[in-house]
Amino acid sequence: MSHSVTLIPGDGIGPEVAAAARRAVDATGVSIQWEPVELNAEVISQTGQSLPQHVLDSLERTRVGLKGPVTTPIGGGFASVNVALRKKLDLFANVRPVHSLPGIASRFSDVKIDMVIFRENTEDLYSGLEHEIVKDVVTSLKVITRTASERIARYAFSYARKNGRKRVAAIHKANIMKLADGLFLRCCREIAAQFPQIQYKELIVDNASMQLVMHPEMFDILLLPNLYGDIVSDLAAGLVGGLGIVPGANMGETHAVFEAVHGSAPDIAGQGKANPTALMLSAAMMLTHLGETEAANKLETAIQSVYREGKYLTGDVGGAASTQEFADAVIKAIKN
Ligand code: NAD
Repeated sequence: MSHSVTLIPGDGIGPEVAAAARRAVDATGVSIQWEPVELNAEVISQTGQSLPQHVLDSLERTRVGLKGPVTTPIGGGFASVNVALRKKLDLFANVRPVHSLPGIASRFSDVKIDMVIFRENTEDLYSGLEHEIVKDVVTSLKVITRTASERIARYAFSYARKNGRKRVAAIHKANIMKLADGLFLRCCREIAAQFPQIQYKELIVDNASMQLVMHPEMFDILLLPNLYGDIVSDLAAGLVGGLGIVPGANMGETHAVFEAVHGSAPDIAGQGKANPTALMLSAAMMLTHLGETEAANKLETAIQSVYREGKYLTGDVGGAASTQEFADAVIKAIKN
């Protein structure tokens, strides 16, 4: 069976890692009709739309996307297209599995880290509702709703049950944001009560950050509102060797867009240094979503064998290989 997939290379290191991931997916032998679409600062300024219609049209057709990062201007300029896409397609669950890979010499190499982050993806401080009340006084609206909180909690607990995970930790700041995070937490508790076989606990986000560094092996599933989920994802990536290796999925009822946790990494863009592992592993999640579990396993096993061998790793994980050399090694391992 052939699948149509929207390929959004993005910008910065996006086109480099997207090309590598596409080659690796094709090497598994699965039949994918790629629909490449441009989404980057240039296209946004040309079309005047932060989410150009051709991108939405393609995703409307395919329902599945593999996406590289897109740069967002800091402190001004256009709004994040990444956030806009997640809202527009109602991709409410951001799922990020964080685990070590063989042979990476991270600070926690001796610890078994295997957690999955469930970040609510459509609201919170990412509502983008900000305004200057009077000069030099700005408010930013944090929106938390029962619908979105219940939905992400149910998704996390259902995943736990389906995948034999034992523990869910809801992470919050309800001691200070009593109404907003209080509602999030209430929803998590109510959903937790429907899954008595899964252990449930709650941690305040500052304590959770410390516990993650002190005892990362204690974490199984983390359930967070949008902003804490964003920050904690990068922290967790740092525990296992960095942003170059952590994949992700944006899941909705009807659409799914797979993308790495990392951004466009302007500091290394265009230099052939980017690690494509995170997007390749996101592509493996996509293959599983498409029902192509054999191809997904092939891809993951090949990536692991390249890490185990350690000869063709990129600079961020201690090697000297280029993006393309790493991709070639993965493709060779797939074909072996
Ligand atoms: P970043 O994730 O782009 O980079 C942080 C650090 O990690 C940099 O030193 C970078 O070189 C390194 N890094 C990231 N990915 C790597 C990879 N695959 N291989 C090797 N090293 C890698 O974060 P940033 O610098 O804070 O953000 C840059 C831009 O990306 C911003 O405009 C931001 O808004 C955007 N961004 C986009 C997304 C997305 O498209 N989903 C996500 C996060 C950030």
